[in-house]
Amino acid sequence: MNKKTIDQIDLNGKRVIIRVDFNVPMKGQQITNNKRIVAAIPTIKKAYESGAKVILLSHLGRIKEESDKAKKTLKPVAKELSNLINKSVKFIPETSGTIVKEAVKNMQDGDIIMLENTRFEDLNNKSESKNNPKLGKFWASLCDVFINDAFGTSHRSHASNVGIASNVSESAIGYLVEQEIEKISKAINNPARPAIAIIGGAKVTDKIQTIDHLIQNVDRVIIAGGMAHTFSKAQGLSVGNSLVQEEEIVELARNYLKKYQEKIVLPIDAALSPKFDNIAPIYNKYNSLEIPDGYMGLDIGPKTIELFKKVLNGAKTVIWNGPVGVCEFSNYSYGTSELAKIIGSLPNAYTVVGGGDSVAAIMNLGLESKFSHISTGGGACLMMLEGKPLPGVVAIQNKDDQPRKKVKIESSKK
Ligand code: AMP
Repeated sequence: MNKKTIDQIDLNGKRVIIRVDFNVPMKGQQITNNKRIVAAIPTIKKAYESGAKVILLSHLGRIKEESDKAKKTLKPVAKELSNLINKSVKFIPETSGTIVKEAVKNMQDGDIIMLENTRFEDLNNKSESKNNPKLGKFWASLCDVFINDAFGTSHRSHASNVGIASNVSESAIGYLVEQEIEKISKAINNPARPAIAIIGGAKVTDKIQTIDHLIQNVDRVIIAGGMAHTFSKAQGLSVGNSLVQEEEIVELARNYLKKYQEKIVLPIDAALSPKFDNIAPIYNKYNSLEIPDGYMGLDIGPKTIELFKKVLNGAKTVIWNGPVGVCEFSNYSYGTSELAKIIGSLPNAYTVVGGGDSVAAIMNLGLESKFSHISTGGGACLMMLEGKPLPGVVAIQNKDDQPRKKVKIESSKK
């Protein structure tokens, strides 16, 4: 990769902003899974051990109104990080302004501070999510070096990644981003064959674009989950009340089915329900994804599980994004769990998984160690599968770029 990495910059005595992805699941003030915090530690450690003044930025959830703030504060995350690295992490309950500037000014080499949730700035005309140039410049003015280690948000062009990177003197990617790119690229660029991709989930409009690119690099693409019904409608099968997209997308699916007939694998049965609810499933009796009127397909059925097992047998590379059923409902999570077990037990296969629900299924089954790479970013992983560059990485300096002129300290008032 042509991007500067953290190892190529002298961090000693410098003010370094690290954009991390601490968007962790919480129950009240309790972090229920600290995987994302743990994943950022190597980069944070490298920075403070090199004598940098480390300023951490992250988002947590979405902030739409003032009342969201109390539930989405990063304060417990700062405490968790501090416990994990056994070092003080000073939490600053602001995202901009004089308090932030003063806190940075008072830092000693090796100190760590964490600012409040970057999305608090979204209450200000969506400054963070819409990459308000003033906000990016303000944050850039706080540091000498910017490190992007938030793979999970690298598919977005926000003030806290692209905004800072475009205004800072030196920038690089952290270890987590470097590793994610390397490991996902290995599965899509010249993969060991046979290579199989599995695309599930519900965001059909986003994901259907992926298929066109991905299918060029793999031998088969399994399409399941909510996605599958759009494809069966395209084949003229009945879909009942299942999730299907508008005609334009059905037409796209029809084109793909024509163009890539031999490579696309679709479910052949389903677990049905008369409503979108966690009630006992009914299995259809057809040998196709035919859904009767009044029902919806919420999971793959046993014949499909057998079919997918056969297709995956002997695979040397597997890329999986998205659940094959409504895995939030215990009655419809069976297919996703079985698929996780099948992929996890493939001998000598390079297996990559991205996307919250598929990753959660693997973790619930305790199968993490059976996979080659579990990505911390569903959307970013998907964008790579689509063959598109990640804006949060594109904005980082190339290996040979010289440091740019520093931006002047911006007024804290945006
Ligand atoms: P995505 O974010 O695109 O990976 O979609 C994940 C969502 O897909 C989960 O919330 C699942 O409930 C949903 N999903 C999976 N299969 C189906 C299905 N057959 N019908 C409706 N939703 C589904």
